[in-house]
Amino acid sequence: MSAPFIAKRPPPDFVLCTDRWTQPFWDAARQHRLVAARCASCGRFRMPPTPFCPNCRSQDIHWSTLRGEGVVYSYTVVSRAVLEGMDQHIPYVPAVVSLPDADGVRLISNVVDAPIDSIRVGSPVRVVWDQISPHVVVPRFTLIV
Ligand code: ZN
Repeated sequence: MSAPFIAKRPPPDFVLCTDRWTQPFWDAARQHRLVAARCASCGRFRMPPTPFCPNCRSQDIHWSTLRGEGVVYSYTVVSRAVLEGMDQHIPYVPAVVSLPDADGVRLISNVVDAPIDSIRVGSPVRVVWDQISPHVVVPRFTLIV
Protein backbone atom coordinates (compact mmCIF):
# COMPACT_ATOMS: atom_id res chain seq x y z
CA MET A 1 0.00 0.00 0.00
CA SER A 2 1.40 3.39 -0.95
CA ALA A 3 1.51 6.46 1.27
CA PRO A 4 -1.45 8.82 0.88
CA PHE A 5 -1.01 11.93 -1.17
CA ILE A 6 -0.92 14.96 1.08
CA ALA A 7 -2.48 18.24 -0.05
CA LYS A 8 0.37 20.70 -0.54
CA ARG A 9 0.37 24.45 -0.69
CA PRO A 10 -0.29 25.88 -4.14
CA PRO A 11 2.43 27.78 -5.96
CA PRO A 12 3.12 31.05 -4.12
CA ASP A 13 2.86 33.06 -7.32
CA PHE A 14 0.35 35.43 -5.87
CA VAL A 15 -0.06 39.11 -6.62
CA LEU A 16 -2.23 40.68 -3.96
CA CYS A 17 -4.35 43.54 -5.27
CA THR A 18 -6.51 45.23 -2.67
CA ASP A 19 -8.84 48.18 -2.47
CA ARG A 20 -10.56 49.96 0.38
CA TRP A 21 -13.14 47.16 0.57
CA THR A 22 -10.69 44.26 0.79
CA GLN A 23 -7.67 45.77 2.58
CA PRO A 24 -9.07 45.13 6.10
CA PHE A 25 -9.34 41.40 5.33
CA TRP A 26 -5.65 41.22 4.40
CA ASP A 27 -4.60 43.44 7.31
CA ALA A 28 -6.34 41.01 9.68
CA ALA A 29 -4.75 38.02 7.92
CA ARG A 30 -1.31 39.47 8.62
CA GLN A 31 -2.34 39.36 12.29
CA HIS A 32 -3.59 35.76 11.87
CA ARG A 33 -7.21 36.78 12.33
CA LEU A 34 -9.90 35.50 9.98
CA VAL A 35 -12.52 38.20 9.48
CA ALA A 36 -15.65 38.66 7.41
CA ALA A 37 -17.36 41.83 6.29
CA ARG A 38 -20.74 42.43 7.86
CA CYS A 39 -23.16 45.20 7.03
CA ALA A 40 -23.13 47.68 9.90
CA SER A 41 -26.75 48.64 9.12
CA CYS A 42 -28.62 45.35 8.69
CA GLY A 43 -26.09 42.79 9.94
CA ARG A 44 -25.85 40.69 6.80
CA PHE A 45 -22.44 39.20 6.07
CA ARG A 46 -21.08 39.96 2.65
CA MET A 47 -18.02 38.13 1.37
CA PRO A 48 -16.31 39.05 -0.75
CA PRO A 49 -16.79 42.52 0.65
CA THR A 50 -18.66 44.77 -1.75
CA PRO A 51 -19.18 48.54 -1.77
CA PHE A 52 -22.90 48.15 -1.19
CA CYS A 53 -24.82 45.71 0.97
CA PRO A 54 -26.96 43.57 -1.39
CA ASN A 55 -29.68 43.58 1.24
CA CYS A 56 -29.99 47.26 2.25
CA ARG A 57 -27.46 49.08 0.00
CA SER A 58 -25.60 50.52 2.97
CA GLN A 59 -21.88 51.11 2.53
CA ASP A 60 -21.16 50.74 6.24
CA ILE A 61 -19.06 47.67 7.10
CA HIS A 62 -18.10 46.08 10.38
CA TRP A 63 -15.33 43.46 10.28
CA SER A 64 -16.21 40.50 12.50
CA THR A 65 -13.43 38.28 13.79
CA LEU A 66 -14.35 34.63 13.22
CA ARG A 67 -13.30 31.47 15.06
CA GLY A 68 -11.40 30.28 12.00
CA GLU A 69 -13.37 27.10 11.52
CA GLY A 70 -15.36 26.16 8.47
CA VAL A 71 -16.78 23.37 6.36
CA VAL A 72 -15.62 22.27 2.91
CA TYR A 73 -18.41 23.33 0.55
CA SER A 74 -16.62 22.21 -2.62
CA TYR A 75 -13.10 21.33 -3.72
CA THR A 76 -11.01 19.96 -6.53
CA VAL A 77 -7.59 18.35 -6.73
CA VAL A 78 -4.97 19.85 -9.01
CA SER A 79 -2.63 16.99 -9.87
CA ARG A 80 -0.94 18.17 -13.05
CA ALA A 81 1.66 20.88 -13.33
CA VAL A 82 0.48 23.12 -16.13
CA LEU A 83 3.23 25.69 -15.61
CA GLU A 84 6.96 25.30 -15.18
CA GLY A 85 7.94 25.05 -11.53
CA MET A 86 4.59 23.75 -10.30
CA ASP A 87 5.77 20.15 -9.89
CA GLN A 88 6.80 20.62 -6.28
CA HIS A 89 3.34 21.96 -5.38
CA ILE A 90 1.32 19.08 -6.81
CA PRO A 91 -1.16 17.90 -5.65
CA TYR A 92 -2.91 20.92 -4.20
CA VAL A 93 -6.56 21.41 -3.33
CA PRO A 94 -8.45 24.61 -4.18
CA ALA A 95 -11.55 24.68 -2.02
CA VAL A 96 -14.63 26.72 -1.26
CA VAL A 97 -15.03 26.88 2.51
CA SER A 98 -18.29 27.80 4.20
CA LEU A 99 -17.93 29.81 7.41
CA PRO A 100 -20.70 28.88 9.88
CA ASP A 101 -20.08 31.77 12.26
CA ALA A 102 -20.53 34.21 9.36
CA ASP A 103 -23.95 32.88 8.33
CA GLY A 104 -22.32 30.44 5.92
CA VAL A 105 -20.58 32.94 3.61
CA ARG A 106 -17.96 31.19 1.56
CA LEU A 107 -14.28 31.82 1.08
CA ILE A 108 -12.17 30.50 -1.76
CA SER A 109 -8.97 29.03 -0.34
CA ASN A 110 -7.10 25.74 -0.20
CA VAL A 111 -7.12 22.64 1.96
CA VAL A 112 -3.52 21.87 2.93
CA ASP A 113 -1.53 19.34 4.99
CA ALA A 114 -4.26 16.73 4.74
CA PRO A 115 -4.45 13.32 3.05
CA ILE A 116 -6.24 13.93 -0.25
CA ASP A 117 -8.42 10.86 0.19
CA SER A 118 -9.70 12.17 3.55
CA ILE A 119 -11.07 15.43 2.15
CA ARG A 120 -14.83 15.42 1.60
CA VAL A 121 -17.57 17.93 0.94
CA GLY A 122 -18.74 18.66 4.47
CA SER A 123 -15.36 18.06 6.13
CA PRO A 124 -14.75 20.38 9.08
CA VAL A 125 -11.64 22.53 8.62
CA ARG A 126 -9.60 25.03 10.60
CA VAL A 127 -7.68 28.02 9.28
CA VAL A 128 -3.88 27.89 9.08
CA TRP A 129 -1.77 30.86 8.07
CA ASP A 130 0.59 30.81 5.14
CA GLN A 131 3.13 33.64 5.01
CA ILE A 132 3.94 33.83 1.31
CA SER A 133 5.90 37.10 1.37
CA PRO A 134 7.04 39.58 4.02
CA HIS A 135 3.71 41.43 3.83
CA VAL A 136 1.22 38.83 2.62
CA VAL A 137 -0.34 36.14 4.78
CA VAL A 138 -2.93 33.88 3.16
CA PRO A 139 -5.56 31.89 5.03
CA ARG A 140 -5.60 28.21 4.10
CA PHE A 141 -7.52 25.40 5.81
CA THR A 142 -6.63 22.00 7.17
CA LEU A 143 -8.89 19.17 8.24
CA ILE A 144 -10.05 19.00 11.85
CA VAL A 145 -9.54 15.39 12.89
ZN1 ZN B 1 -27.22 45.79 4.91
